[in-house]
Amino acid sequence: MTKQNFLIILGTAHLATTPGKCSPDKSLCEYQYSRSRINGIAGKLKKLGYNVVIDMVDSHPNASIKSSSPKTEQSRELQYRCKVVNDLCKRYGNSNCIYVSLHVDAAGSGSQWMNAGGWTAYTSKGKTKADTLAECLYDAAEVHLKSYAAYMEERKKLGMYSKAQKPFRTDTTDGDRDKEVDFYVLAHTACPAVLTENLFQDSKADVDFLLSNEGKEAIENLHVDGIRKYIDAL
Ligand SMILES: [Zn+2]
Repeated sequence: MTKQNFLIILGTAHLATTPGKCSPDKSLCEYQYSRSRINGIAGKLKKLGYNVVIDMVDSHPNASIKSSSPKTEQSRELQYRCKVVNDLCKRYGNSNCIYVSLHVDAAGSGSQWMNAGGWTAYTSKGKTKADTLAECLYDAAEVHLKSYAAYMEERKKLGMYSKAQKPFRTDTTDGDRDKEVDFYVLAHTACPAVLTENLFQDSKADVDFLLSNEGKEAIENLHVDGIRKYIDAL
């Protein structure tokens, strides 16, 4: 597979108008954090010669998405994202595209700090090429979030994370590490699609890490390396 024939579609998370989706102290908002990291990832991949498209750059809903009902707005947003991806898949071919949507997880409603943490990749249910992409992303996460794993262990002792927390959240019952849930953008996109949940927006320790330069670089580089590994093996 040559880089020129392949398209990487990066998915931003949510909108500025989506209710919740911020840390309790509002220092990290998911729509914004996701867009910043996606910009960084897109820049790095383009520099390496890859074709990259972002599904939704704007933070505010366009006229076709905007609604006074958050529920309606969210379903229009998700449909819009899938249409962008699927139109590109038609042009390039499903197996010549991937879709990677970058989110930040939450354990509660966003009103208070919780004690969960860790990194997760999700794919739709069943064995698909997305599982291979997710494995590449887990491999890269284990490299780039190595210091985060130590950081979590230290803070577990201080009670900032519950004892059950793991730096890499997995479900290995089906033979791979990703968790499988039919999220809308995973179930309704034609190409291999992975949604990453990059630590927790309602964990004080995770937010501190995510907002550090080291954290921002780690999140960007794990996506860059995971995606490259997948494309190089095609
Ligand atoms: Zn999200």
